[in-house]
Amino acid sequence: MRLADRDAWRFPPDRDLAARLRASPAVQRRIASTVAGSGPRTSRSAMLASAVMVDPAVLPHLARAIAGLRDQLPGIPDLELFVYNDADLNGFVTPGQSRTIVALSSATVNHLDAEELAYVLGHELGHAAYGHLDIPAGVLAADRTLPIGDAARVRSWQRAMEISADRTGLVACGSLSAAARALFKVASGIVATSVVASPQLFAGQWQRLADEVIAAGDRDFHHISHPFPPLRMRAMLLFQEAIDSGDPQRISVADRAIAAMLGMMEPSDSGEPIADLRLRAFFFWGGLYLALEDGAVALCENQRLAEIAPDGTDVAAAVAAAHAQPETCLERFAEAFRGRRRRFSALEIHRIVYGLLDIARTDGRVSAGEIARLERLAEVMGVPPQGCALVAAQFAKERSDGA
Ligand SMILES: [Zn+2]
Repeated sequence: MRLADRDAWRFPPDRDLAARLRASPAVQRRIASTVAGSGPRTSRSAMLASAVMVDPAVLPHLARAIAGLRDQLPGIPDLELFVYNDADLNGFVTPGQSRTIVALSSATVNHLDAEELAYVLGHELGHAAYGHLDIPAGVLAADRTLPIGDAARVRSWQRAMEISADRTGLVACGSLSAAARALFKVASGIVATSVVASPQLFAGQWQRLADEVIAAGDRDFHHISHPFPPLRMRAMLLFQEAIDSGDPQRISVADRAIAAMLGMMEPSDSGEPIADLRLRAFFFWGGLYLALEDGAVALCENQRLAEIAPDGTDVAAAVAAAHAQPETCLERFAEAFRGRRRRFSALEIHRIVYGLLDIARTDGRVSAGEIARLERLAEVMGVPPQGCALVAAQFAKERSDGA
């Protein structure tokens, strides 16, 4: 992996959301008025007043590190690196009048080793290299007059851009464990050298967090600009595994899995129903129940189920067991429904029924037998057959319109 090839492994939702924001007239107007303002000039004079500029004569190792990274990232703007006095581990990058400003807190410089610093600098330079600074996301996020759709996209984009920047950080430092240590230190503030942040253990916290979020039915994360640190770690782990496999396809598979994890931080009424990780157990067990209606799981259905399976599910074993006793799928579906502490909203139940129809249609059609099984699943959630029929009619209409 080379930093120069960064566009090949940029996290696709980052690119797509940036393009959509750039195309929005409301966003364009705000970009124009922000550029006309005096913000960037202020941030450089603030830096000069309260920070030291990294100069080969003052902080030679940092100056070397940033020069090395800049050489590997052709096309990025001219940079100035500052260190400011602060006990928090932190860093940021911001557009300047003539040069882009990269700033690290003194604690970051004091407590991170060379590899960890390369990760942090690579992350910040990644923001500059990908053009993340061209749209003032922070300003837009604080703007309460922005149309709701744009405002939600700004938040989603802020989280997606962190995934891309983490990748440049990882490639810059060349070590998953150094990236894990740096992310752990920055997220926790714990800098003791005895702390061993294993990438796998750290990423494993994501599953616990996800289970917790699913059980509580929480969905109040959409205003948070950064993905949860264990999610970022898991995203880097999946990316590294994809690279190590040598199979370029694996990066797309990792991208889809990461997009689904980020989907948990989205407001409940956005995006594809199937992408909602909180509802995966319902899609998996319900979908398997529907797929088995004709007695066998087709290859395309098997692939689809593997994509939506909750983490840690042995798909082959689950399919084999369900084949022998299809009714266990209905039981697992009911267990998942009972397992949640918070009541389901009507919207969520609608999304489950709608998503199940989508899965049933994987082989090209939704049969009468599948509808009968869908009604049994819906009954578990307290939806009468008429309600199910309404959703099925809506689904059929939207699909025949090519929506
Ligand atoms: Zn960042």
